[in-house]
Amino acid sequence: MAKRSYTKTPMREQSPELRKNNFSEVALGYNLKEGQLEASRCLQCKNAPCIQSCPVMIDIPGFIKQIEAGNMKAANEVLRKYTNLPAICGRVCPQEKQCEMTCRLGRSKKFEPVAIGKLERLVADWALQQPIETVNNPKNKGKVAVIGSGPSGLTAAGDLAKLGYDVTIFEALHAAGGVLTYGIPEFRLPKEIVQKEIETITAQGVKIETNVVVGKTITMTEIQADFAACYLAVGAGVPNFLGIPGTSLNGVYSSSEYLTRINLMKAYDFPNYDTPVQTAKNVVVIGGGNVAMDAARSAKRLGAETVTVIYRRSKEELPAREEEYHHSVEEGIDYHWLTNPIEYISDGAGKLKAVKCVKMMLGELDESGRRRPEMIDGSAFIIKADMAIEAIGQGSNRVLLDTFKELQLNQWGYIAADLTTGKTNIPGVFAGGDIVTGAATVILAMGAGKIAATQIDNYIQNQKLRV
Ligand code: FAD
Ligand code: SF4
Repeated sequence: MAKRSYTKTPMREQSPELRKNNFSEVALGYNLKEGQLEASRCLQCKNAPCIQSCPVMIDIPGFIKQIEAGNMKAANEVLRKYTNLPAICGRVCPQEKQCEMTCRLGRSKKFEPVAIGKLERLVADWALQQPIETVNNPKNKGKVAVIGSGPSGLTAAGDLAKLGYDVTIFEALHAAGGVLTYGIPEFRLPKEIVQKEIETITAQGVKIETNVVVGKTITMTEIQADFAACYLAVGAGVPNFLGIPGTSLNGVYSSSEYLTRINLMKAYDFPNYDTPVQTAKNVVVIGGGNVAMDAARSAKRLGAETVTVIYRRSKEELPAREEEYHHSVEEGIDYHWLTNPIEYISDGAGKLKAVKCVKMMLGELDESGRRRPEMIDGSAFIIKADMAIEAIGQGSNRVLLDTFKELQLNQWGYIAADLTTGKTNIPGVFAGGDIVTGAATVILAMGAGKIAATQIDNYIQNQKLRV
C-alpha cells in the first residue's frame, strides 16, 4: 500500500489572479482519482470521532470507504441517509471546527485530518450528474407546513416527505434556498448546485410555494387550521447596524442588501439582469465573519481597487472560516485588526468619502468567553472609502413573529424552542435553525430540521392515537 500522505490531497482552484475578476466557483473539486487518494488516508476508525462531531452524524468512514473502492453510487447512498444537502455542506460547512477537528488522523500531529468536506462534495457532485430519482411513496400520513426554504426548512421537508407526509414549504422570496440562494455568493456556492439540491427534495413530493409571506399573504391561524403541524424556519435575515453618525450616507450598505442584490438579483451580471449595484474604488467592510468575507470578495470582483476589512478583535478571534480568510488574502483583501469605525464622513454632497476609525485593545473576557475589545484613547484615524459595508450580524425577522403573538420568544427576540425537540410553547408548532439559535451555520440549521421532522412525526402519530 502507498505511504499515507501527511497532508490533504490538494484541490484544484482558479488562480487568485483570474478568480478575483469573475464570479465562477473558486474551488474546482476532486476528480475520482484524487478522491480515492484522499479516501485512502482515512484510518477507518472504530467508534469514529468524526461521526460524533458531525451535527447530522453522517457515517463518514462508511462513505469514504466506498469512495476508496470507486463505488460512488454506494457512497452516495450512505451520505443520503443522513443529509438532504450534501453538495452544499461539502462546500460551506466549517469542517475544520467539526468533523475534521476531531479526525484521529489529524490529532496525531504529524498528519493533516482527512479532507472530509471535499470528499462529501465529490460524492454529492457525482450524484447531481445522475438523473434525479422521483420518490413516489404515498403521502397519506398528514399535511405539514414548513415556513422558510433555507437549509433548515428544506431538510425538515425532505425528511417528512420520506416519512410519508404531504409537505408544503411557504417561502417569502421569489426563489427557494434562503441564505444559500440570496446570501452566499456564486464563487463559493454556485446557484445551479443549490437549485439541483432543491430539485432532489421536490422530487420527493415536497411542494414549494414562493412569494408567500407568512404573516401577510397568509396568516398562521389559516396555516394551523389547514395543516396537522408546522415547522417555523424563517432564519435571522434582518441586518444589525452600528448606528454611527453618517449611516444614511450614499455608499453605506448592509451586507444583506449588498449580497442579496449580487446573488439573488444577479447584479454582478447587470445589465443582463435588471438590478444594479453600486461599484466603488475603495471599499471598507466591517466585521469578521463569513458574511464579511463574502462581501469583501464580492466587492473585489466588482472592480474595487482596494478592499479593507476592519475587525475589532485580532486575527486569532476571527470567526470566518480559515479557508475564506486565506482565499480573501490571496485575492488582495487587506485587514485592519483591532479597529472599529466610529463615523462615516461625507463628501459634502451626501456621499461617503471616508471612514473614521479607532484602534482597540483586548481587555477582560466578556459573556461570549472572548476578550472584550476596548477603545484606545487618541487613536482615531481615517480610511478613504466610497463604500462601506456593515457585516456585523443579523437578527430575527419580525414579519411572522409580530403577527403570531401567542408564540413565546426568548430574551434575544428569537423563538423560544427546545433545541432537542424543536417544540415551541404551542402544540403542533415547531421551530429551528437561525430563528431559534440566532445566526449560526448551515449544518446546525439542517440538524435542527432533522430533529423537527422526527418530532413532528411523533406528534402527529400521537395525536391520531388520541382520537
Ligand atoms: P435561512 O437560510 O435564513 O432561510 C430562512 C428562509 O425563510 C428565507 O428564505 C426567508 O426568505 C424565509 N422567510 C423569512 N420570513 C418568512 C415569512 N414570514 N414567510 C415565508 N418565508 C419567510 N453558514 C455556514 O455553515 N457556512 C458558511 O460558509 C456560511 N456563510 C454565510 C454567508 C452569508 C452571507 C450568510 C448571510 C450566512 C452564512 N452562513 C454560513 C450561515 C447560514 O447560511 C445560516 O446559518 C443558515 O442559512 C440558516 O438556515 P435557516 O434555514 O435557519 O434560515
Ligand atoms: Fe477517517 Fe478521520 Fe473519521 Fe478516523 S476520524 S474514520 S481517520 S475521517
